[in-house]
Amino acid sequence: MDFGLTEQQIAIRTVARNFATREIVPKAQNIDETADFDWSLYRGMAALGFIGMTAPEEYGGSGTDLLTWSLVMEEVAKASSAMANSMTLAESMVQYISSQGTEAQKATYLPEMVRGERICAFALTEPDAGSDAASISTTAVRDGDCVVLSGQKMFISGAALADLFVIVATVDKSLGAKGIRSYIVERDTPGLQVAAKLDLLGVRGFGTAPVFLDNCRVPASSQLGGDGGFRDVMNALDGAARLGATTMAVGLAQAAMEASLRYAGERSQFGQPLSRFQAIQIMLADMSTEIEAARLLLYKAATRRDTGLPSTMESSHAKLFAADMCMRSVTNAMQIFGGYAYSKEYPVERFYRDAKIHQIWDGTSQIQRTIIARSLLRDGASS
Ligand SMILES: Cc1cc2nc3c(=O)[nH]c(=O)nc-3n(C[C@H](O)[C@H](O)[C@H](O)COP(=O)(O)OP(=O)(O)OC[C@H]3O[C@@H](n4cnc5c(N)ncnc54)[C@H](O)[C@@H]3O)c2cc1C
Repeated sequence: MDFGLTEQQIAIRTVARNFATREIVPKAQNIDETADFDWSLYRGMAALGFIGMTAPEEYGGSGTDLLTWSLVMEEVAKASSAMANSMTLAESMVQYISSQGTEAQKATYLPEMVRGERICAFALTEPDAGSDAASISTTAVRDGDCVVLSGQKMFISGAALADLFVIVATVDKSLGAKGIRSYIVERDTPGLQVAAKLDLLGVRGFGTAPVFLDNCRVPASSQLGGDGGFRDVMNALDGAARLGATTMAVGLAQAAMEASLRYAGERSQFGQPLSRFQAIQIMLADMSTEIEAARLLLYKAATRRDTGLPSTMESSHAKLFAADMCMRSVTNAMQIFGGYAYSKEYPVERFYRDAKIHQIWDGTSQIQRTIIARSLLRDGASS
């Protein structure tokens, strides 16, 4: 596979890098400390066309491919995990609605989402259904022309800020994964309530909160996608959601390496910069090598998805490796910063807290291994 980037891709990445450096980096620490979302940055990203980039042009997007999107995402992720989280959510919901929504749903929701005016949260996880997501208990009961939703959702990114929710529910729990459906629900629908946002370890500042549904009545036409069950939901999430998490991990590790490189050149011990010590050089070399490997896995998975090739195993390869790599890289960065890593004076403390989530969300590292092993056992090991 040839990953030689085009001039246009390099130009878009430069715009993203400049915006991230000038606008996001100076605010990133404050977003983390206050855990308050920065709407002005979000609208700034939308004005540059970075929100919902893959949406078709008729709905305000630019029909960008996932590889180009990941270049922009990496720059944002280097600057702020919270802002990168908002960009990932927007893209995954835009892809879900673009690929499976009705014409009316696309026309109603996509343009406003792409303009950065409305955030759409995705509510799958429940208190008793995380990795085993197909075992959700939120019910969708048909009543005439309506569907009544009842249940509880947990850890919903952007819920405190969202105007729209894609709620995943079951029409019949005895059907298992086949009984799963998704519905687009407006925030002010009676029966939908967002709880106080959670005080998180990392990725702070994107309004993650539980959502309650108490006899929440929506038109049956709110259903997003057909009756394909959990497979349809997972197919939608294989793209921007899983690759977004992967890109966030790559960007965060890159930021940690760049900060470490600077610090190792500035800080002296035993009469010479840390960068002269081979033990430090080895950590930097390992970080650089692993980041590059993760980035190539990401580009491969994105390219396969962009060209319509099967990409589930490749997405899992990329997500698994990038998540574990990110954790190792920020740990190395912490080591290079020594005691100062513990101080909020430097951003590596935030990077360390932000890194862990990548081994947990969008399928934990254990679940990614399960997906990869299942593919291997079903299809064999040839690539
Ligand atoms: C900050 C944050 C934001 C999130 N945003 C969203 C969101 O926007 N929307 C949404 O729907 N969800 C969201 N989530 C939920 C997230 O996707 C889940 O936390 C994740 O899927 C894991 O589920 P769990 O927390 O219930 O852990 P569990 O499923 O209870 O897992 C606990 C441990 O057991 C392991 N385990 C479980 N099953 C197996 C198995 N079969 N084999 C081996 N090991 C196993 C897991 O790998 C993990 O180590 C978010 C979570 C966080 C923390």
